[in-house]
Amino acid sequence: MRTAWIISIGTELTLGQTVDTNAAWLAQRLSARGIRAVRHLTVADELADILGVLDAAASHADLVLITGGLGPTEDDLTRQALADAAGTPLEPHAESLDRIREYFHARGRSMHEGNFAQALLPIGAEALPNTCGTAPGIYLRLRETPVFALPGVPSEMKAMFDMEVAPRLPTAAGVVLQRQLRCIGEGEAAIGAKIRDLMARGRNPEIGTTARLGIVGVRINATADDSATATRLADEAETELRARLGPLVFGRDDETLAGAIGRMLIEESGMLTVAESCTAGLLGKLLTDEPGASRWFAGGVICYSDTLKSGLLGVPVELIARHGAVSAEVAAALAEGARTRLSTTHALSITGVAGPTGGSAEKPVGTIFVGLSTAAATSVERLQLGADGTRDAIRERSATAAMNLLRLELMRTRATTG
Ligand code: AMP
Ligand code: MG
Repeated sequence: MRTAWIISIGTELTLGQTVDTNAAWLAQRLSARGIRAVRHLTVADELADILGVLDAAASHADLVLITGGLGPTEDDLTRQALADAAGTPLEPHAESLDRIREYFHARGRSMHEGNFAQALLPIGAEALPNTCGTAPGIYLRLRETPVFALPGVPSEMKAMFDMEVAPRLPTAAGVVLQRQLRCIGEGEAAIGAKIRDLMARGRNPEIGTTARLGIVGVRINATADDSATATRLADEAETELRARLGPLVFGRDDETLAGAIGRMLIEESGMLTVAESCTAGLLGKLLTDEPGASRWFAGGVICYSDTLKSGLLGVPVELIARHGAVSAEVAAALAEGARTRLSTTHALSITGVAGPTGGSAEKPVGTIFVGLSTAAATSVERLQLGADGTRDAIRERSATAAMNLLRLELMRTRATTG
């Protein structure tokens, strides 16, 4: 078995009222078992549409996973669609009916007409017990292709997959090991250009990129018969990618910029503070998302107004008057003020125009200055984040850029001090 189709059923999904998280979760679970999800389909609660998709899936996929449409109401049609596709009627399944009765009895609630329908199964199908809800799942074969239908509610779906579906999937089909290197400092296209040959189609490990808010993920998917081989293939690819991308790589999988900064600050017994204007605490939030941040992060000042920039951090009023609050000079003074007044080894500052209003010809929306002060020097970087960015995106990218400024500086000092 190699390929799977994942079908998500529900009008709330096709209308965009609910985001389909089930398909992504299932695809990852399959991937870990060496089964590749090659198609995700989302279908409204329409019998003819569901039948059409089931028919295509049964003839193309080695395995079909369905979620949704098993609820107790008229609009839930997965059961009927499976019966129609299999060419059999639905019949009551006694054990499932008992379980549903028991579910309501245990909660002191009465059962509704619709709940009886949930105990109906296409003849020849197997019921998959639901440990956290009423609707049983369904397992049957359509033209020899195994098809599993699971509830739409994510918690029920996940429990049922792990307890009922996974044990029925063939083992030793191979493994796909997924890994991701996280990069910052260049765009997706520039990073892609450095590793183009490694990204060629048909290679194993398969390497691809994704980008979000200035952070580029380089995905490594290694396929092998056993996990030791998959790990070796992924290790080799990772080594090559790191050699090509150098300091652009800040972490792997769940590792964050804050984590990378924290590790280096601890090593040199450094302490960090921040002075945030347009991000107003977001940088501090992102830094402290890292558990144990108190070992290297002292806190900071949200100096949104000019009064606080001067009053709390000693930025000269004339400096603000001459260059404006959004300027390299003020970013530098904010970082120096934070470092000296709050008595730390390192300080970061952010000042900028997050928009959507407040831009000028000289400093349009998305103009950001991030500053870094250490005992040795103060540096400032100007970012132009594009006036089309939303306020949220501009603020997050600003905080990310500030963290990267510090990360690169910490790497430089490590390199020079050995
Ligand atoms: P259903 O099994 O169709 O009655 O779905 C029950 C509920 O589960 C829906 O109302 C949604 O809130 C949620 N749900 C269904 N399908 C998905 C999905 N693919 N991803 C995330 N949530 C879902
Ligand atoms: Mg539904």
